[in-house]
Amino acid sequence: MALDFSLTDEQRQIQEMAHRFALEVIRPEAAYYDEHEETPWPIIQKAAEVGLYGWELLASGQSDPTGLTLMLVNEELFWGDAGIALAIMGSGLAATAVFAQGTPEQIREWIPRIYGTPSEPKLGAFCVTEPDAGSDVSSLRTRARRDGDDWVISGTKQFITNGGIADVHVVVATVDPSLGVRGQASFLVDRNETQGRLRMGRKLRKLGIRASHTAEVVFDEVRVPQDRVLGGLERLEARLARAREGRSTGRSAVALQTFERTRPVVGIQAVGIARAAYEAALEYAKTRRQFGVPLLQHEAIAFKLADMRTAIDAARLLCWRAAWMAAQGQPFLHGEGSMAKLKAGETAVWVCEQAIQIHGGYGYIRDYPVERYWRDAKVWTIFEGTSEIQRRIIAQALATADD
Ligand SMILES: Cc1cc2nc3c(=O)[nH]c(=O)nc-3n(C[C@H](O)[C@H](O)[C@H](O)COP(=O)(O)OP(=O)(O)OC[C@H]3O[C@@H](n4cnc5c(N)ncnc54)[C@H](O)[C@@H]3O)c2cc1C
Repeated sequence: MALDFSLTDEQRQIQEMAHRFALEVIRPEAAYYDEHEETPWPIIQKAAEVGLYGWELLASGQSDPTGLTLMLVNEELFWGDAGIALAIMGSGLAATAVFAQGTPEQIREWIPRIYGTPSEPKLGAFCVTEPDAGSDVSSLRTRARRDGDDWVISGTKQFITNGGIADVHVVVATVDPSLGVRGQASFLVDRNETQGRLRMGRKLRKLGIRASHTAEVVFDEVRVPQDRVLGGLERLEARLARAREGRSTGRSAVALQTFERTRPVVGIQAVGIARAAYEAALEYAKTRRQFGVPLLQHEAIAFKLADMRTAIDAARLLCWRAAWMAAQGQPFLHGEGSMAKLKAGETAVWVCEQAIQIHGGYGYIRDYPVERYWRDAKVWTIFEGTSEIQRRIIAQALATADD
């Protein structure tokens, strides 16, 4: 299929629907949830009722040959408010892990378990990061050991979105420490079945995206049956055997497989924040007058807005290209997913800072949303692989790709 970014009628409809939801439901509540740092359950429920939260949306996104449907929805929701949008979209990370690595039976059972129902929505969490293992996912200390027919998981996870409040936690643990990343596996854990042995540690207070819950998660000898190995026990044993013989396991580390798929989506979320900041700055520049004319008539401000708009379009195009490639099953041989996430995250921070500058003193106070946009945007250069790690991936691709 040739690269083509013209949207179908269906895609335009879902884009419009997500935009309306962001404008009418999310935006009016953004300041409240930023201030109170609460999970916006009523908004998650409304999103589920209109089809913006749930496995059906993710499934339709996964089967979209252009890869753009989920991109459109994410850009609009994050344009509304990043914290609330992440509370809505954060479960997608766990669900994507199940889609990427699960057996057909696991996909059928666990994706609906992650999301619950519109009348009783539930959350998912994807637990990789640990206090001493962030960028370096090869050094995970959380262990899963066999005990008869069960697995027993112990360890502490750090910075987990929806951690401890999600029903389903997909946890990455080391099963054979001698094999490094190749000795890791993911496990499906339903918090309600752990007799309290999966518990939330400290809830983390953040600079931005405060409506999104982030916490430590403690796994204290959490016992799960065999069928909770994501991808199945047989596949894991075959992979471990290949690794022990020094043969290629055929795929990258289990955590990295999920991140490869989610990078274009994570990038477009940052584009949504950047667009919100740009639009706010443009509007302000049209109405605020200094030296007898609107700010927009000062070339320094107009050029700033021109650069902001250009950077946003460039970032969006990189994200769309990566999403399209992923949907077409094309590998990211040149680090295209990382390029998208890197450019979009850094663009969002830069655009938000310019938006504050254009607002002058008013940009620095909470009466205007641009200070919140900047606080929210910053984490897009940190989570799901920091900017430095994205550059490392792109640089490695430069060294290994044929052209
Ligand atoms: C709000 C929030 C939500 C999150 N949600 C989740 C989640 O749901 N699940 C999950 O598993 N994790 C989550 N994370 C964790 C996130 O992915 C990590 O914070 C991130 O991967 C960085 O790890 P670290 O914080 O330990 O930083 P470190 O890895 O300690 O890095 C510190 C600094 O050193 C740099 N650095 C590290 N190694 C290198 C290198 N080799 N070369 C150059 N520079 C390097 C980094 O780029 C960074 O600037 C979340 C984090 C935040 C803040």
